[in-house]
Amino acid sequence: MKKAFKDEIDYPRDPELYIYGRYRNPNVVAAENMIMKLEESQWSLLTQSGLAAIDTALSIFHVKENTGKWLFFSEIYGGTNHFIDKVLTKRRGIDIVRFTPDVEKYSLEKFEKLLKDANPSVVFFEAISNPMLIAINAEEFIKLAKKQGAIVMVDNTFATPFLWKPLKSNADIVIHSVTKYLAGHGNISAGVLSGNNPDYLKAAIEYRKLVGHMLSPDDAARLCDQLKTFELRMDKHCKNAFTLAKFLNNHKAIEKVLFPGLKSHPTHTEANGLFNGKGYGAIITFDIAGSSNHEKSKRCNSFIEAVKDNIPLVPTLGDADTILMPIEPVWGDKFPYPGMIRLSVGIEDVEFLCNVLGNALDSVI
Ligand SMILES: *Cc1c(COP(=O)(O)O)cnc(C)c1O
Repeated sequence: MKKAFKDEIDYPRDPELYIYGRYRNPNVVAAENMIMKLEESQWSLLTQSGLAAIDTALSIFHVKENTGKWLFFSEIYGGTNHFIDKVLTKRRGIDIVRFTPDVEKYSLEKFEKLLKDANPSVVFFEAISNPMLIAINAEEFIKLAKKQGAIVMVDNTFATPFLWKPLKSNADIVIHSVTKYLAGHGNISAGVLSGNNPDYLKAAIEYRKLVGHMLSPDDAARLCDQLKTFELRMDKHCKNAFTLAKFLNNHKAIEKVLFPGLKSHPTHTEANGLFNGKGYGAIITFDIAGSSNHEKSKRCNSFIEAVKDNIPLVPTLGDADTILMPIEPVWGDKFPYPGMIRLSVGIEDVEFLCNVLGNALDSVI
């Protein structure tokens, strides 16, 4: 017992240290070991949600000495943006700067200038944005941020370690909403943060324990099973999405398809550079054609109604089943596109998906 308390933040973790479930437990460690292999990280820590992982990662650096600004890319998960505004800024008084893209791309030159002006101690981004799927040449952005002395954190939920491993590109911390592709079946809420620096590990273990962000052992056990098919699933997710993006792009009921694998996407080159041809992820955002906003909105609703038995409206992504979400009702004024839909492509037979989507689109025009 004495040893357990003394060494409670030792790593690798000694079985004698399993003294209380919220500190650490064997199921969680088993799942963490699997994620460490996928991420090629020195350590990975599971939490009970993606946001708990983001909170843990950012709280490593929330110490008195760290008074600098924190720089966040603006096009990140909505919940993260709320966390920044309502927790980091309002409750914790952290000084935030946001880096916004120019219409459809993030400019590396403007990022370099902002780094010089703000001199941030933390830089946080997602390499593919949600829902417009803006990809960045992340290695170049990381290089500049590190040169300026910032600690770099990447929320890699959309790309997953299947497409890109940020730690290998010199990021300090990588975060996932495990709820999405890593667990992949819409049945577990979990998050993970991974890194190589042992000091960050110590701080993160302590924080997770203090605030109770630990994942439950039952969810961890189920996650171990689901992780066994992670690479198989991702390969199929990405292949299905590529096929469907091309199919949708040729359908007359569709005005525009946003998918980084298409040459027409503004950041196609960046996505190729980052993912090395392994795929482009499995989210497709598309805009249904119409002569007015009213017509677009009507067609969008009819489309959602026509596919709902096979492709339901579910406000998540990264599920083995294909699911969709309309953009305007969720993002409001930020993306005022009444015909736009975000499709999270699953691992079903792709011909079946083409038929379901094709028939529904034929029926709305
Ligand atoms: C869903 C999501 C999160 C939040 O994850 P939860 O598991 O819902 O807490 C964070 N980042 C991205 C990119 C996400 O898609």
